[in-house]
Amino acid sequence: MSTNTPLDGATPATASSGSSGGGTAVASAPAPREEYNANEYIVRVRNVKRVYYIGENPVHALRGISLDVKRGEFMAIMGPSGSGKSTLFNMVGGLDKPTEGTVFIDEVDIAQLDAGELAWLRCRKIGYIFQTFNLIPVMTALENVTLPMIFAGASLDEQMERGRKLLDMVGLAHRMYNKPGQLSGGQQQRVAIARALANDPSIILADEPTGNLDQKVGEEIIQMLKRLNKESGVTIITATHDDKMYKRSDRVSIVIDGEIQAVVPPDELGDNTVDGFLANLKEQKDQQEAAKLAGNTASI
Ligand code: ADP
Ligand code: MG
Repeated sequence: MSTNTPLDGATPATASSGSSGGGTAVASAPAPREEYNANEYIVRVRNVKRVYYIGENPVHALRGISLDVKRGEFMAIMGPSGSGKSTLFNMVGGLDKPTEGTVFIDEVDIAQLDAGELAWLRCRKIGYIFQTFNLIPVMTALENVTLPMIFAGASLDEQMERGRKLLDMVGLAHRMYNKPGQLSGGQQQRVAIARALANDPSIILADEPTGNLDQKVGEEIIQMLKRLNKESGVTIITATHDDKMYKRSDRVSIVIDGEIQAVVPPDELGDNTVDGFLANLKEQKDQQEAAKLAGNTASI
């Protein structure tokens, strides 16, 4: 069932004040652990900021993001290009480090992991899917899918058996000896899905997985991800600009300018397109800011 989580409900301060009665809040605790069933959340992002520098100029890609993702949830991250979706993915996937803030995966602060533990997390716990597929061109579909299994130490027999099974599952048993250049975009993305599942991850991070595909093929990819989510309980977090994708998700997080503006069930977005919704939201935000500014000016 989807839950409507207002953005403020996801911040540590509100979450702990909401759990009154426990009496165990420690004001100076460095990493707040809210009093809820931690097992419910597979990913918790707390006040994450990421500043890039272009020369001396800072680019504030993430401006303090807090987000909870439930185990088994299908979460869509929506936002205009440049709003910080890929940066957020890199943080959650342990591919880059926040300038500030914390990412917990299964309640483990991933900044505390050593290089070996982080490699284990990336290899075993998370599967990655990218807009541009990112397959290795000189390897066959089967080799691409089994590569992460090699890193995980699987035997050759295990690699072959599981690799074939996964390619069969994505409908590509007959193309397993083809290289990416011999496959269509949709087929390459299906190989990438099989590869993401190589080590049976609990989370799949899919960064605009339908962005380079036409509508019909994109729909097949969405169905595949949805089926995985339902049948295997894998948690899916996907950045998307695709109306069909967010409509199938449990909740939608809307990111604008490096900040989460809302976390809502998809039906709350109604029949709006992604762009329509974002435009409305931006208008509301601009109006609020104008009103605030007018208020400030009036009180001077
Ligand atoms: P999205 O995925 O939503 O399109 P990104 O996370 O890629 O957005 O980018 C967010 C912001 O950070 C953009 O302004 C982008 O130009 C900037 N950015 C991303 N990566 C870098 C980088 N390596 N160096 C400098 N700026 C970056
Ligand atoms: Mg991106």
